[in-house]
Amino acid sequence: MTNDQEGVRPPVVRLDGVRKAYGETDALAGVSLEIRAGEAVAVMGPSGCGKSTLLNMVAGLDRPTSGTVTVNGQDLGELNETGLALYRRRQVGMVFQFFNLLDDLPALDNVALAAQLTGIPARQARRRALELMDELGIADRRNAYPAVLSGGERQRVAVARALMNRPALLLADEPTGALDSRSGEQVMDLLIDLNQIGQTLLMVTHDPLLASRCASRLVEFADGRVVRESAVTDGAEGGGAAAEGAVNVRTAADR
Ligand code: ADP
Repeated sequence: MTNDQEGVRPPVVRLDGVRKAYGETDALAGVSLEIRAGEAVAVMGPSGCGKSTLLNMVAGLDRPTSGTVTVNGQDLGELNETGLALYRRRQVGMVFQFFNLLDDLPALDNVALAAQLTGIPARQARRRALELMDELGIADRRNAYPAVLSGGERQRVAVARALMNRPALLLADEPTGALDSRSGEQVMDLLIDLNQIGQTLLMVTHDPLLASRCASRLVEFADGRVVRESAVTDGAEGGGAAAEGAVNVRTAADR
């Protein structure tokens, strides 16, 4: 019987004894952590505790000084730079506090480009981008440039872009940090909906509301270590059937 049949989902992310030293500072001082398929995990902790370093390790943007990071069964330490670049394009989607959209491309092209970079023909990429934007309620803004979009619209474009390649893992770095409370609510609802349809999420945040609403598990960091882990009872129930009114975006869980 597989883990899945027993009701225990396999880990999407596994960190074993991950240490990251910057000179004298250990940004991560031996972190071991598992995130199972369909979970929504929020990492919280004070500035400088290692949250961004953790995301960078999982995103394959940086390498640990020691320890291993495994995503979907792939030890990232075994990948060369080209392999890591492919991993970033195909396996992870990233959402940032300040959106990181390309200012000289309209919204649709910002979204479609993520798939074109993996070799998908432009027409096909634009078709999927438009479908996703429709699901996320921003299709009418497809020809708008980022400068004229509201913060909430920009973040929804960024989420659509992150989902283009049906990533095994969606990483979010303070996804509501630059939004007013109403737009923040919309983005939180979107993250909840995505998790409800099986999208595995790893978020880092200072915002207790985001963590309590969107996460199924809270991991607290201090000084580069995990100091506490707890289930969030009010949060999203990861990987269940789509909730009423939830977005209908296909995720890696459907592959
Ligand atoms: P957080 O995201 O929780 O604010 P970070 O992961 O950014 O924390 O930083 C953790 C620690 O590592 C801090 O002491 C920070 O100054 C240090 N640090 C992070 N990145 C670098 C870097 N590129 N060079 C040197 N020190 C760094």
